[in-house]
Amino acid sequence: MPKSDPSAPSKATTENINHLIQIDDKHWLHPATHEAFLAMRQAAKNDGICIDIASSYRSVERQLAIWNAKWEGKRMLYQRDMTPVNAHDLSDEEKLHCILTFSALPAASRHHWGTDLDVYDAQAMAKAGLDLELVESEYIGDGPCAPLHHWLLEHANTFGFSFPYAEDKGGIAKEPWHISHTIEAQRYMAALTLTELEKHIQNMPILGKESILQHLPLIYRQYVLNEGIE
Ligand SMILES: [Zn+2]
Repeated sequence: MPKSDPSAPSKATTENINHLIQIDDKHWLHPATHEAFLAMRQAAKNDGICIDIASSYRSVERQLAIWNAKWEGKRMLYQRDMTPVNAHDLSDEEKLHCILTFSALPAASRHHWGTDLDVYDAQAMAKAGLDLELVESEYIGDGPCAPLHHWLLEHANTFGFSFPYAEDKGGIAKEPWHISHTIEAQRYMAALTLTELEKHIQNMPILGKESILQHLPLIYRQYVLNEGIE
């Protein structure tokens, strides 16, 4: 399981999220994204498809906790081909790439904006007797969330959503569960310049800071803009 616990509370205790709309006790979304999401969820429901939220807004604080736990080897790391690897066996540079393939750099996660969601079909997962792991096999072939994924591929665009991690370009691994409210997200992405990101990293208690800053221009291109490897 490469991802962090998708059901873990995502709310920040110190970050101001007054501009977001609370959906339930675990989920917050940007107002325009919220409106588009509700319309899409209703349309899916009319077609017999349930869209449940595994993850929506996530604080920088929470992303930092995930990052530091991975850096310290308190959470399992995976190579791009899903081979588990021990953090202690990797150089700092290898560790960076290993973590960034599956987890965003704190301050650079699209989940910080309230415009992006990880979605699944809770009922289908329960019927299959599976706990959600957010792995590709759940969303393709005869995976429990495959009908949902097919529906989204066909209709998400109509509601203004797109799949930023539809393909693995050598940056972020494929995430068929991750949808983004395109227009709103583009604004946040445009504001997240390399200089801005560097300021955030300088000011946070992040493990591996020196190595991150040393490689930040490459990290920014490969994983934040997700341009992958040229
Ligand atoms: Zn996601």
